[in-house]
Amino acid sequence: MQVLIISDIHANLAAFEAVLDHAPHFDEVWCLGDVVGYGPKPNQCIERLRGLPHTSLAGNHDWAALGKLQLNSFNAIARSANEWTQRQLSAASRAYLDSLAPTLQGHVFTLAHASPREPMWEYVVDATTAYQNFERFSSPFCLVGHSHVPAIFELDEERERCELMLAPFPEPVELGPRRAIINPGSVGQPRDGDPRASYAMLDTDALTFQFHRVPYPISITQERMRAQGLPQRLIDRLGVGR
Ligand code: ZN
Repeated sequence: MQVLIISDIHANLAAFEAVLDHAPHFDEVWCLGDVVGYGPKPNQCIERLRGLPHTSLAGNHDWAALGKLQLNSFNAIARSANEWTQRQLSAASRAYLDSLAPTLQGHVFTLAHASPREPMWEYVVDATTAYQNFERFSSPFCLVGHSHVPAIFELDEERERCELMLAPFPEPVELGPRRAIINPGSVGQPRDGDPRASYAMLDTDALTFQFHRVPYPISITQERMRAQGLPQRLIDRLGVGR
């Protein structure tokens, strides 16, 4: 099966559409959470996702927009964007987000928005944090989002350590025999210095993981954000991918 792996769309419809146009054939979509928050088109991104054969997790921004997480854990800019999102969400969008869980356990792939240990909050961005998380899931592989940085953490059981690999990943990555935690990066707000939308294709039969980057009309999203009075800092960061 070919699976389109996406995460952290953050209501950036232009980026999401670019990913869907660019992606090769897929049978299913696995979305790792944060469909909303920061960006200007929360309801439209949810509707687009719901039109696809998919599984999705809830992220911290999704839960915050429902009032299921305290906004005081957000910085001031994220909080104001989230309050705007709360006012925009339709009843159908709220019901959909409320139906999502922050983790899903599978035999081969576990999915977690942030980390298996702390599915809402932990940033897996270093090898030590990743290493500690391997004992918190039992499947060979775990897919996470949240950091907005594409990465692979491979477990070296003999040396009791983890190896971190960062983009670019020009070739498909063969999964196994080592266990791994993998982040496809963010569709709607990349933070690794590359402003292009990030996604991945997983072949569950061949066990290969191919990262992709795709340009999208950033200025359209920025213009939509400006029109809604969303914070300038959030508008600016899309242009630099930080
Ligand atoms: Zn996010």
